[in-house]
Amino acid sequence: TAVFSVEDIRRDFPILSTRIHHNKPLVYFDNAATSQKPLQVINSISEYYNHYNSNVHRGVHALSQLATEAMEAAREYIRLHLNARFAHEILFVRGVTEAANLVANSYLSTVPKDQQVVFSALEHHSNIVPWQLAAERYGLHLNVIPMNHDGTLDLQAYEDILTARPTALVAVNHISNALGTINPVRQMAEMAHRAGAVIFIDGAQSIPHMEVDVQAIGADFYAFSGHKAYGPTGIGILYGREELLDSMPPYMGGGEMIKTVTYQKSTWADLPFKFEAGTPDIAGTIGLKEAIRYLRNIGLEQIAAYENELLSYATDALNNLDGLHIYGQAPGKAPVISFIPDGCHPYDIGTLLDQQGIAVRTGHHCAQPIMDYYGIPGTVRASFAFYNTKEEIDYFIAKLERAIQMLR
Ligand code: PMP
Repeated sequence: TAVFSVEDIRRDFPILSTRIHHNKPLVYFDNAATSQKPLQVINSISEYYNHYNSNVHRGVHALSQLATEAMEAAREYIRLHLNARFAHEILFVRGVTEAANLVANSYLSTVPKDQQVVFSALEHHSNIVPWQLAAERYGLHLNVIPMNHDGTLDLQAYEDILTARPTALVAVNHISNALGTINPVRQMAEMAHRAGAVIFIDGAQSIPHMEVDVQAIGADFYAFSGHKAYGPTGIGILYGREELLDSMPPYMGGGEMIKTVTYQKSTWADLPFKFEAGTPDIAGTIGLKEAIRYLRNIGLEQIAAYENELLSYATDALNNLDGLHIYGQAPGKAPVISFIPDGCHPYDIGTLLDQQGIAVRTGHHCAQPIMDYYGIPGTVRASFAFYNTKEEIDYFIAKLERAIQMLR
């Protein structure tokens, strides 16, 4: 039972009353892929387009000032939420993917050749591929922190890797989207720093579920995507420590990111604008602020407590089914369950559940190396949010049992 009213909360999310496939109620268990948006977020976006749409920073006119103020208020609000020291350490990007590419292209261009970039076996492809591309471009080595069978990382091996050769950067997610593992990022940051490396933390799955204090963790870079935290798509955050961002070259060139331009040479604007070329997703920044405000109003501790209840309720019910394997059993994991019933293909399960109105994700979850580790093609993944209920889980379990019977 939640300390907040789940019924009231569900009224804030009109899409949750959608009926699909011949009037079946929607059961949305694909929250790790993207979360639904409350009216507060949706309304803030139409409010912007209806009443003060304008480009930022350029005009002296009234609307431009309103838009600029709203965007900078969003930056300040997110600074406060992450406990960053300065608002100019908060960069607006499209999401974790763009954040990782920015750091890979810009920061790694400044490090000595032959150093290594280390990422973990639990990473999403967006926290692997940018480092591979940059390693090729800048002559760096790659190394991988191995995982254990329960879905945790092998920290002893991590220590050994850090001493193997000079390390430029460590990239790790705070929470694994495929298994739900919560990684000990504070300890991992400390270990990286002792080895002289910086750490890039992918917070795509953590921001919707927990309080994050970038200074307490010791994050050098911390990234998240708005759309997984009840905000709009197309907007996300890259936090970077001021000293690092100051020392880094621009990632993209264009309007807004310059001080002066001549045919031969340009100079760069101060932070954060040096990294924000072009017209930003102004509406997105406004919607993202409302999403974070919505989370803070309910309270992230309250949210986590209720989501953990849903997680154990669903885990117990799944464990009661014959011949079903749950992948990733890290203690205290996030509300994500990856599983395969023996003798069933994940895709078939997903299709049969969909016919009953239940949205789950099937496949490798953009984390193919994890699936290779377990020797499986993919899993069925159910991921919960604070608007889900135990009744929905009961319905899901009943339909899953029927699907398994049909497929075996
Ligand atoms: N990292 C993790 C852990 C994720 O779950 C995701 C999205 N599935 C990403 C990175 C990539 O986020 P985006 O596609 O929004 O850039």
